Amino acid sequence: MVSRVIPVDPFDLVIFGGTGDLARRKILPGLYRRFRDGQMPDGARIIGAARGEMDDKGYHDFVAAALTEFLPQRALDPTAVEGFLGLLGYITVDATGKDGWAQLAKRMRKGVVQAFYFSVAPSLFGALAERLHKHKIAAPEARIVVEKPFGNDLATARALNATLAEHFDETQIYRIDHYLGKETVQNLMAVRFSNMLFEPLWKNQYIDHVQITVAETVGVGGRGAYYDTSGAMRDMVQNHLMQLLCLIAMEPPSKFEPDAVRDEKLKVIRALQPVDLDDIVRGQYRAGADTPSYTEDAENPDSLTESFIAMKVHVANWRWNGTPFYLRTGKRMKARMSEIVVRFKEPPHSIFEEDTGQSANELRIRLQPNEGMDLTVTIKEPGPGGMRLVDVPLDMTFADALGEDAADVPDAYERLIMDVIRGNQTLFMRGDEVEAAWAWTDPIIATWTAREDKPEAYDAGSTGPEEALILMHRDSRRWRELTS
Ligand code: NAD
Repeated sequence: MVSRVIPVDPFDLVIFGGTGDLARRKILPGLYRRFRDGQMPDGARIIGAARGEMDDKGYHDFVAAALTEFLPQRALDPTAVEGFLGLLGYITVDATGKDGWAQLAKRMRKGVVQAFYFSVAPSLFGALAERLHKHKIAAPEARIVVEKPFGNDLATARALNATLAEHFDETQIYRIDHYLGKETVQNLMAVRFSNMLFEPLWKNQYIDHVQITVAETVGVGGRGAYYDTSGAMRDMVQNHLMQLLCLIAMEPPSKFEPDAVRDEKLKVIRALQPVDLDDIVRGQYRAGADTPSYTEDAENPDSLTESFIAMKVHVANWRWNGTPFYLRTGKRMKARMSEIVVRFKEPPHSIFEEDTGQSANELRIRLQPNEGMDLTVTIKEPGPGGMRLVDVPLDMTFADALGEDAADVPDAYERLIMDVIRGNQTLFMRGDEVEAAWAWTDPIIATWTAREDKPEAYDAGSTGPEEALILMHRDSRRWRELTS
């Protein structure tokens, strides 16, 4: 059932930061899987570019070790691994200096797709763009892939957009939000825009509210110092949760084409109302039995940074007026779970006895674990005993639907990198989208920074601070349980 693999055009893909954590864990294993499945043509080439000294052979060994570490044994076909390593080369490059650029220029071929993946610290994005341009390495149609975070606020995002725009056209810039590469997220668009069933009901008249949850069990661990300058609002809400909200709330685009889709998402971000501070709960995890507290992880005993946030958001337009969106994300929570719940209203009048039971339909879109969707439908409880109602899920778990093929569904990164090579920007953020998202988050962050708001403490392994539950209870609603 997994769709046919269509090879992309021959390409040179340069991974700046090709020895980094992201390259080892996601980018290179993803590229290997695309190669193994026949999506890379003869003439595909991947060049790792980073600061460390290494030759091509050293890089082959380095990548082979990463594949073994980050892919399951069954994914490793020795012939495919050898073939994949044969595509790889390495160049030592200094993003902020002169070293390596002439060699890189020499290695690039003409007449193939050129892509440059900026998998390095954001402070180096500008320097890389400038040098690619100055050394005439990037062809006019070359693409650059920019990792997150894209800025730290509106001013820095604008400055970065301006720097990139000095050297590259917007059509060449691919800003990654890997949530958009997830199978379920794209399926959300398929479900909304190719079924007659949902779209007529997709509005405030029929939808009570929407919940978006991205919960993690891990703490900030080794990233503590970086995370402490960011927090859940910048690290998760401004990008991933905002993108999910856009896909739920946007109007149907006229075509599944980059600007048609991104124009609609931008309208949603611009329609977001400023959030009332009473509708935001910030939290920070306490130490658990065997786990450090947030402030210990961040090595900052006085930190006011949030590792959890829950908020009620309104999209001020005709479709959504009066239907709130509740967003929640946090670290060190009870379960690792990302999902969107669209809760429909109860029927306006029940024809059954009061004690028969009554509830509302829910469409649940699960991003992890068990990617898939289910829709709860109220039916009669089977058997004798009169009319009693019960909710049953119509389950569309991909693993069940796809059987063994489910393991072969591409990971978000591999799908997105192939989109870069194909030149399809639909699942990437446009510069104005990112700026609009910061324009909405900046005043919220500025207010709590000015007030020196202290996040509420919550227990490791919990559902977050009590106040987050109250945020929902106040509106006679409740979060769906966190389960993995
Ligand atoms: P990392 O610190 O593990 O690796 C950094 C890489 O950059 C190394 O290959 C290093 O050699 C190279 N580098 C550093 N300075 C350089 C210079 N002056 N010139 C050339 N190369 C240089 O970082 P990472 O975790 O792989 O993250 C890379 C990017 O991806 C960052 O923007 C990060 O925010 C983003 N990101 C990472 C993850 C993740 O899970 N690691 C997740 C999402 C986004």
